[in-house]
Amino acid sequence: MKAHSGNVGVFVRIRPTAHFAQGLVECLPDGQTVNIYHRRDSKKTQDSIKGRPSSWSFRLEGVLQDVSQEEVYDRVCHPLVQGAFDGYNGTVMCFGQTGAGKTYTMTGSTKSYKQRGFIPRALQQVFQEIERRTDFSFSVQLSFMEIYNETLLDLLSPVSPLQDSAPPSARGLVVMEEPGRGVVIKGLSLHPVFSEEDALDLMFEADMNRVTGSHALNRNSSRSHCIFSLHIESRSRTLSEAKYVTSKLSLVDLAGSERLGKTGSEGQMLKESTYINKSLSFLEQTILALADRRREHVPFRHTKLTHALKNSLGGNCNTVLVANVYGEAEHLDETLCTMHFARRMKNVKIQPAVNEHMDPALQVKKLQKELVTLKEEMSIHNTLLKNQSVEHEPLSEAQLAEISTEVQSYLDGTLMEISVKSIRQVEAVFAQFKLAVQKQEQKDVMCSTCSSMKKDHGAVTSDVKESDGRGGTEEAEAGGSVASDSHKQTRRANTTATKTKKSKDKHSTTQGDGSPSSKKRCETSSRKQNTSQTSEKELDPQEPEAQNQEAQPVEPAQPESPPTKSECFEDFKVGPGSKISSILKENKAVLLERRSLVRQLTEEINAVKGEIDHVMSTLLQHKQMRAARGVYEYPSEDEEPDADLLLQLSKLKTLYRLRHVALHDVKAEVNYCEHLVHQCRVRLVSGQFCLLHMNSFEFTAPMKGRKLQSDDTEQQPQAELPPDAPSAQFFHNARCRTQKRRDVRAHSGYKRLLQTPPAT
Ligand code: ADP
Ligand code: MG
Repeated sequence: MKAHSGNVGVFVRIRPTAHFAQGLVECLPDGQTVNIYHRRDSKKTQDSIKGRPSSWSFRLEGVLQDVSQEEVYDRVCHPLVQGAFDGYNGTVMCFGQTGAGKTYTMTGSTKSYKQRGFIPRALQQVFQEIERRTDFSFSVQLSFMEIYNETLLDLLSPVSPLQDSAPPSARGLVVMEEPGRGVVIKGLSLHPVFSEEDALDLMFEADMNRVTGSHALNRNSSRSHCIFSLHIESRSRTLSEAKYVTSKLSLVDLAGSERLGKTGSEGQMLKESTYINKSLSFLEQTILALADRRREHVPFRHTKLTHALKNSLGGNCNTVLVANVYGEAEHLDETLCTMHFARRMKNVKIQPAVNEHMDPALQVKKLQKELVTLKEEMSIHNTLLKNQSVEHEPLSEAQLAEISTEVQSYLDGTLMEISVKSIRQVEAVFAQFKLAVQKQEQKDVMCSTCSSMKKDHGAVTSDVKESDGRGGTEEAEAGGSVASDSHKQTRRANTTATKTKKSKDKHSTTQGDGSPSSKKRCETSSRKQNTSQTSEKELDPQEPEAQNQEAQPVEPAQPESPPTKSECFEDFKVGPGSKISSILKENKAVLLERRSLVRQLTEEINAVKGEIDHVMSTLLQHKQMRAARGVYEYPSEDEEPDADLLLQLSKLKTLYRLRHVALHDVKAEVNYCEHLVHQCRVRLVSGQFCLLHMNSFEFTAPMKGRKLQSDDTEQQPQAELPPDAPSAQFFHNARCRTQKRRDVRAHSGYKRLLQTPPAT
């Protein structure tokens, strides 16, 4: 898929403001044009007549004003990620004045799932796409680097930050050009990722390292350029070809583009600004050179930024620029500069091309196999089939079709034997047999799935009917709930049984070493499926469980493997999660007690109802007997012969009503208890590795020994409910873990060492 062809795609995103420069900045209804009317200093602007505003019109691919993060992503980044799966490189770059929203666009808010930016959204899209493309196996690796004062820094350095004692020079990254591979950053760690959550973890880690760095030198994050890269490699599972495609997705958050004079900076800030200005002005020159077809030399090597981005600006890459601007009049100068840069960028031509490669090892294997076949062919030709001419060429489509028909006839019984003609023909016959067996197996699986689905459906229906049949009594409710719980437990057990353990290889590799074939390959898709099964099972907050069972992720233990999730979970429950665990137990006990009270009350109500029925039928009998004797009325109440029975009936009715009210109250308690147990369980599971976050959840004490009020739910401090989408859960978990690491580092006094900028 070609996301953008022809020219670099350019969008402008205007930061929302209550003081929009009405009359000075005009966004036309076509959604693509911005007009700027600006009165500039006439001394500086030779072509404008003093006092008269100049006007500029910029036509771009899109003007994004008051547009949500989701829509911006869909319009700008989504097509590029899609293209990366087809082998196209893609680059998104955010350019603009400090504070105009570059980082907001690229990374977004790390605290809000809804306001996440391009990077987390791209990771989500990548892993969703991998799950969709089952015919391919994928390898995904990511890197994150920062360019600060012309020094390249690895934000995901594999050296533990706590033991980061190597001299800066030894850890330096170098931009290099390798034949056939283009620009590579030697020394930059490349991290294989197998799931969205893994990748988000690394993203938050990098973000934290960036922020930690900012503390060390008291700079804000806009003082550096950041390049996040995703390397995707895809191979077909169905075709045994030596061909495979690769792509690189670069998401670039540039430093603030404001001019030196305007910032009035000095000292360290001045030095930073000088570096930033230098790199951005060379970026501009590079863009100009790229846009000018007559220019032979493009000054990529003048700065680390342009050199590192050499393969990511135009050329065979789908490149998109987001020009971030303020909407206020006071920033109009900078807005204009940004728009001019955007216009230049728009003139850069791109010719996206698929990065297709041949795996040399696979190719050699294929040729060796071919050679063996030919030799066998020759020997058959020489011995068995002396007089016949044997074809040595691979079989044509028509010949293969003929063999397929022959095999079909043989299987149907209409053909009694298939005569051997050549090795290739024998191989093709076997291949056809294999295909026939596979088809049959698929059919069997589908049939059994259909029948089991029918059975499941039947079981569910009968559960419902059973529950309905007993309708109204709490006995039935409790019974129904246990029945459906055990049904779910069975399903859960089945899921667990089919689950295989995910073995991650978290060792990072560096770009500098090894050929593509030597890279660890990962069957990402299948691993991901396992992962999603696991998380689904662990985190399903809707799933109630049998009364005496704990919420536990179940995973088969592996010999000589790191502790399983269930072991970790057990540790968690006796360690940091002990508080919630014990609250859960106590709440469950209360729930059990309330449920048994419901059963007891139900029995009592049924007994009272039985007595009422009995007394009423006796009264009716008496009445009928008297009617037979012709007696219908009594002069006074005292003479009423069934006075005792009527009194008893009245008492029974009162008792019935009281019991009903009590049952109603206890049922409300049961509901509330179930709600609390459910909340505890969700917290326990989702907070398993999320200690810090969990500490901030204040759970109510169990309700033992106190009368519940109907509005208790409102009185509880509400713990933040986990987001419902799995992706939101990944985001949430990854953020929690990073938060925890940050605190550990803060406690250990860690400060990230920064490399000394080279003397210039
Ligand atoms: P930059 O990276 O360009 O220096 P930031 O992305 O850090 O600027 O944005 C500065 C502030 O403005 C942040 O607090 C960010 O949340 C906010 N902001 C920027 N753009 C938007 C937007 N489109 N919507 C809401 N808030 C925004
Ligand atoms: Mg920024």
